[in-house]
Amino acid sequence: MELRNIRIWDGRAEGYLEADGLTIEGTRITRIGDPAPDAIDSSGLTVLPGLMDAHVHLCLDPDVRSPDDQITDVDALLPAMRSRAEAMVRAGITTARDLGGGTWAELRLRDEIAEGGTPGPRLLCAGQPITSVGGHCHFWGGEAADANAALEVLKRQTDRGTDLIKVMATGGTLTPNTTPADAQFDTGTIAAIVEASAASGRHVAAHCHGTAGIINAVEAGVRTVEHCSWVGPDGWGKHYDEAAVASMAAKGTWVSPTINLGWARFRGNKPLESLRQDNLAKLRAAGVGLIASTDAGIPGVRHHDLAAALREFAHFAGLQPGETLRAATSDCARALGIDTVTGAIDVGLEADLMVVEGDPLDDLAVLATPVEVIARGRAMLGTLANAR
Ligand SMILES: [Zn+2]
Repeated sequence: MELRNIRIWDGRAEGYLEADGLTIEGTRITRIGDPAPDAIDSSGLTVLPGLMDAHVHLCLDPDVRSPDDQITDVDALLPAMRSRAEAMVRAGITTARDLGGGTWAELRLRDEIAEGGTPGPRLLCAGQPITSVGGHCHFWGGEAADANAALEVLKRQTDRGTDLIKVMATGGTLTPNTTPADAQFDTGTIAAIVEASAASGRHVAAHCHGTAGIINAVEAGVRTVEHCSWVGPDGWGKHYDEAAVASMAAKGTWVSPTINLGWARFRGNKPLESLRQDNLAKLRAAGVGLIASTDAGIPGVRHHDLAAALREFAHFAGLQPGETLRAATSDCARALGIDTVTGAIDVGLEADLMVVEGDPLDDLAVLATPVEVIARGRAMLGTLANAR
């Protein structure tokens, strides 16, 4: 596919490129600029890297409130997961990191998508999260009483072919009898997990609501801190820890704050809204990188709503549209360790792209209705060639 008269944002620059031609051959971007005269005229359109959601759960049905009521039979689960994946890629999400389930069905989906048989985003999957006995999401099968048991759970995931490891460093809201403020593992146990993961070439993503767990996870060297909710005895967001943040900045730890459309409920709710905004502003000022994520699959959070959620992300994190988009493209790719594969528009990278009308660097709202989405070089909507 070859496009001419198209405006290009490469996922990194402050503004648009001078070049206005883009060539895709097979799955890759092979040329920027110098379009052939018979290329598809894309006047009025802008191409940017496809969006990335750094935290989803494809196995979860967002319309089901209790984890006990979720489908766990893989044969029944897979068709629903396929339709979620298709809705995601059609909405411009060309990469997603799946941070946990109980059956490894998302790994099957990942491979189906990679083989080209099923439309969907490029998936990175964590499999069963390592959790304490009775801990957060223990029903997914990753319980571990100590460091040795944690390494056994870890081996079970890598044997299955997961792309990374997820650890539950604190309790969560989804699991009865766990408390978001409480740490589930000490630093030594998480460090053993990080070391064993690194030995097999994998990063660790740590679910962290409570400040105690954030401190343990950062100290242990995890790659991404999920949620980062700063919960403690006084409640959510009230236990921001400057030393932990300085450590994140020094180690290059990324924060994936899982800001979804549900955060709209905090808007105008002054103590909660400004608390969240202040915490994120302080993180950014300290030099910690943020990546876009939604926790899609949890109650009420639909898998394909990232583009709309980016407006909430921008609002709460105080980001300009370009900064928001970097967190959902090139920065996210760096955090996930796939920036040599995707996340930007560059010759040699995979063609994971979205095409929109309007000016995404001025107004994120234009992302809501992509004209075309290209994933691994394949047009997902099939509109571009026909319309032009
Ligand atoms: Zn999650």
